[in-house]
Amino acid sequence: MNSIVPPKQPPADAPAEASVTRPTRSEAEAAVSVLLRWVCDDPTREGLSDTPKRVVQAYEELFGGYAVDPVVLLERTFEEVAGYDEIVLLRDIRVESHCEHHMVPIIGRAHVAYLPGTRVVGISKLARVVDAYAKRLQIQERLTAQIADTIQAVLQPRGVAVVIEAGHQCMTTRGVHKTGVSMVTSRMLGAFRDQSDTRRELMAMIQAPRHSGMFES
Ligand SMILES: [Zn+2]
Repeated sequence: MNSIVPPKQPPADAPAEASVTRPTRSEAEAAVSVLLRWVCDDPTREGLSDTPKRVVQAYEELFGGYAVDPVVLLERTFEEVAGYDEIVLLRDIRVESHCEHHMVPIIGRAHVAYLPGTRVVGISKLARVVDAYAKRLQIQERLTAQIADTIQAVLQPRGVAVVIEAGHQCMTTRGVHKTGVSMVTSRMLGAFRDQSDTRRELMAMIQAPRHSGMFES
């Protein structure tokens, strides 16, 4: 990982690939209507008449990450490190994504850590970076790598670690129908990759008991 380059983002109103022309909203709604007929239902019946419109609206939210530039999210919030040089960990960030093979949910949680160099970032920005990449069509491996690589490239800390545990509905509600299975992926950069004691400290922090309700207000 010698040359980490933040992924290039399209402008907020552009499709992900410049070569793909974004259809109009009514074309998208018509496509949902086709799928309703494909599953052998009647798109004109009362309960379904507004469904194409609602699905397209839902997609805007579920896939809103394409309109967010994670690099910009992190760039805005550099602060002085104030002498703090230990691990910063945000754990149990809810992950809501969709698998790019079946377009069904991937639900889980992410733990994002970094070792500050000269700067720190507001912790809510780490959660926003997770969302920016999760709210796209994904595979968990790439999602994990994108979050870590972007934090590394923009913040340039001494190390970055991202661990994601998630269930994939494409294998729980269809296909092999295996429930209760979670997939765990990780990306370790810098000190988390090179120093086993730093990595051990991180894993202990991630696994430390949760005190439910203790920090909620
Ligand atoms: Zn899938």
